[in-house]
Order: sequence, then structure tokens, then C-alpha cells
Amino acid sequence: MSDKRAERIADFIEPLRVRPGAKVHLERDFDPRFKAGLKKRDGPELLRTGVSLLAEYQERLAAQDTYGVVLCLQALDAGGKDGTIRHVMSGVNPQGVRVNSFKVPSAEELDHDYLWRYAKRLPARGEIAIFNRSHYEEVLVVRVHPENLIRQKLPEGSFGPDIWDRRYREINRWERYLTDNGFKVVKIFLNLSKEEQRTRFLKRIDLPEKNWKFSAADVRERRRWDDYQQAFSEMLSATSTRWAPWYVVPADRKWFARICAAAVLAHTLMEIDPQYPEVGEEARKDLLVTRRALEREAPAGAHADPYTARHSP
Ligand code: AMP
Ligand code: MG
Repeated sequence: MSDKRAERIADFIEPLRVRPGAKVHLERDFDPRFKAGLKKRDGPELLRTGVSLLAEYQERLAAQDTYGVVLCLQALDAGGKDGTIRHVMSGVNPQGVRVNSFKVPSAEELDHDYLWRYAKRLPARGEIAIFNRSHYEEVLVVRVHPENLIRQKLPEGSFGPDIWDRRYREINRWERYLTDNGFKVVKIFLNLSKEEQRTRFLKRIDLPEKNWKFSAADVRERRRWDDYQQAFSEMLSATSTRWAPWYVVPADRKWFARICAAAVLAHTLMEIDPQYPEVGEEARKDLLVTRRALEREAPAGAHADPYTARHSP
């Protein structure tokens, strides 16, 4: 059964994957309104299926001690990162998942190399770390606003025009290193249209309980729309690799974006195919000895093994 499920999910996310080496032109190649022929009313059922699949696989991931997962979420403002995290992770055990949000770097962070703060938040084996914004900000906001680069205290001669190609290379190698050492890097870009962003900004202004989500900076960033599209396109072209491909998720319809994000993460976990550790013959024998000892401790009138007594027919 799990093979069929895995195949269906692989087919579903195939159109979202950026082929390594492809030259992406975001607006030409990816439609923010794409919905794979699905209807909104099919959304809840599909999301439930995805979420329970994730719960099942995350439990297995947590039980083993070889692999960890880093899920990177990138988007423009109002792209739906927070909602995606909330919905997609709703079924999993919070003990095995950590969400890290990356903001404007602190003074301490700026006193280190640019990957330092992301490396500090990597998962342990068995864990899923979600990066709400990620090391990709280092070739996005930092590129669109070069004053961020000045603050990074780089040595003379190391921040010429070739810096972005160098960062792409460094990021690719870092992700390769992580993958080779058991840490899968999953990358999702929530692709929002300019008109849908406008609508969501207005909603954040119109509804008082959403006001906190909106800042004047968001409108300033919107004015740089074309520069961001360009930076996203170049990032997707340069950093979608065999070991860590990008998935461009159509984000104008929240219900569809959430199904896609769940599917991409489920696909990764199914590829890892984490297994519960097997208890060896010797360990099993020891357990049975302990079991007999516990049975002998039964107080008068109690079952030797209340669990078996309760669960046998
Ligand atoms: P929010 O996600 O709305 O809380 O905003 C976080 C802000 O931090 C955004 O405006 C990002 O552009 C900014 N940010 C994140 N990473 C960096 C970075 N490496 N350099 C500069 N600004 C960043
Ligand atoms: Mg914001």
C-alpha cells in the first residue's frame, strides 16, 4: 500500500520541482494559481490524508537515529509561511519538530560567518527542523538590499559582483555536506502573485485582529517586487540540486499550497523510509526475563500481567 501512496505523491509534486540545471524565469514557468485540476471542496480531505501520513512517518523518523530533516520555507510577505507551518505540522508530535524563524540578524549573528546562525538551528538525527525563512535570505533580501551586506563585516575584496554566485556555490556545498551526513534539506518556495499579495495586505489592514501582521515595511518591500522576482528566479536556477531540489508551490490558494507542502515533506520522509529499530534476539530474551520478574511482583488478587489480561479477547 505504501508504494502506491508514494507513487501518487511523487506524481503530484513532480510539476512543482525545479529540474537541477534548469534556467528558471519565475513568472513564465510557474503559475501561482495552478491547482492541478483540484477543487477547493476536495481540500480538507486531501490535507487530512497528508497530515496523517506525515504523523505516521514522523513517528518513525523520531524512532531512528540516522536521519534528520530541514524544511526551508521561503516566500514574499503574506505568502502563507505561518499558516502552512500551522496546518502541515498540526498532526505531528511537537517533541520531534522545531520551528525556527529567522529575522534581521542580531549583532551577535553579524559577528559570525553568514551560515552560522542557520547551522546553529540544525536538527538532531530523528528531528525535523522547520526554517521559517532560511539561509536563502542571504541571497534574497541581502541581495535586494545591499546595505545588509555592508553590515556583514566581510573582508576587503570579498564582496564584489561575483559574491552571489559564490554564495550559491557555498550553499549548494553546505547542503550536500548535510545530505551526505544524514540530514535531508527540503526547500519550498511559496509562489504568490502580486495581485493576491495586494488582497492579503488589504485584509490585514481591514481586519483589526490582523493588523499586527502588517507593517509599513511590507509595502516598501512590495515596491521592489520585480527585483525579488529576479532574485528568486536566479536562486531557483542556481540552487536546485539533485540532493536538495527546490519545489515551487503555487500559493494564491492557501488550501492548495498546504496540500502541496504536506506532499513535498511526506515525499521526503517516504524516501528516507525510516524504520523502527529492531530489538535483537538477546535484548528480547532480557525483556522476557524482566517480564517474569514484574509478573512475580503482582499483589494478591491482581493479574500477573494486567495489560495482556485487558487486551486479550
Ligand atoms: P517576518 O518574517 O515578517 O517576521 O520578518 C522578518 C524580517 O527579517 C523580514 O523583513 C526579512 O527580510 C528580514 N530578514 C530575514 N533574514 C535576514 C537577513 N539575513 N538579513 C537581513 N534581513 C533579514
Ligand atoms: Mg512580515
